[in-house]
Amino acid sequence: MTNSNTGADGAIGNTGTIGVIGLGNMGLGMVRTLLREGFAVVGFDLSNDRRIETAEAGAAIVTSQQELFKSCDTIILSLPTAAHVTAVLTGDGGLTGCDCGPRLVIDTTTSEPDVTRALDQSLRRLGHILIDAPVSGGPAGANSGQLTMMVGGSESDFAKAMPVLTALGGKITHVGPVGAGHAVKIVNNMLVATHLLTMSEAIRLGTAAGVEVENLINALNAGSGRSAISEVNYPKWVMNGAFDSGFTMGLMRKDVRLAMALAAQKDIAMPVSELAGELWAQSADSLADGEDFNRITELKNTSATNTVTKTDPLKAGE
Ligand code: NAD
Repeated sequence: MTNSNTGADGAIGNTGTIGVIGLGNMGLGMVRTLLREGFAVVGFDLSNDRRIETAEAGAAIVTSQQELFKSCDTIILSLPTAAHVTAVLTGDGGLTGCDCGPRLVIDTTTSEPDVTRALDQSLRRLGHILIDAPVSGGPAGANSGQLTMMVGGSESDFAKAMPVLTALGGKITHVGPVGAGHAVKIVNNMLVATHLLTMSEAIRLGTAAGVEVENLINALNAGSGRSAISEVNYPKWVMNGAFDSGFTMGLMRKDVRLAMALAAQKDIAMPVSELAGELWAQSADSLADGEDFNRITELKNTSATNTVTKTDPLKAGE
């Protein structure tokens, strides 16, 4: 597909030129996809190495975010955390201080619903639009334009973002008003984090009971115990020892912390997920932030695990 809607006329969200801020594992993949789809793309990252790599991919590069705000009517953010998003939008040199026309901001960062809603208020006052469109599918999905996107925003803002969203995403779900996308993404990653732990336990149990690991996985994937972890993560990144998914322990620990904080804020009891959260927090002792997030499957004998194994599950009902 080629974008036919080129030629910026100043109208918000007409996708004349797209700016991408944050050119990491995800942002650079999105840049490549947008270029392939015929969009004019401008990139900015604090890292010079990332800027060079993005220039090599064919995008125009600027050396300040202000330059990007001025030249792009649609701005995609792919940043580590909500704090980075806040700094880019409302900090020194941020969009709120820019002497430029109205902009459509699509935040694909895994961020925090409350922060997103507050940023929406600040931007809207100035005529800008913010939608949250966090993603699933990793660098492979970003590079192929097959991301799963969970979008928060009004119907009309969602419609304005659609030309860009359809370029980036294979499955796009509008999940509610602004902030809702980030809430769904946090819930999604809480499940992924927990499934990685339960799947590693399933493998240990099944193999200890005498089943070959390949046979176990094949059977699970044909059965009702399957998940994205058994269908994708184990074959692609764990069983072959590759551990090169492009998503780090540090970022997943952030997502798990966000889920725990959201549950505390909303007063939602989730004992199983809280134990998973504890194990992910403890993993920082043995797995550095830069390690692949699938390495959590190698975590053994943490104190939380010991706490669980001290209770004989067979006697738990007595
Ligand atoms: P990354 O660490 O590879 O990239 C983030 C980039 O942002 C870095 O290049 C960094 O230099 C840049 N950056 C930080 N602050 C900046 C600023 N103020 N201005 C400009 N650039 C800045 O991270 P990633 O893996 O690409 O993830 C990006 C976001 O997408 C995260 O929120 C992550 O949780 C989410 N996510 C990642 C994956 C994945 O598989 N990697 C999947 C889904 C969602």
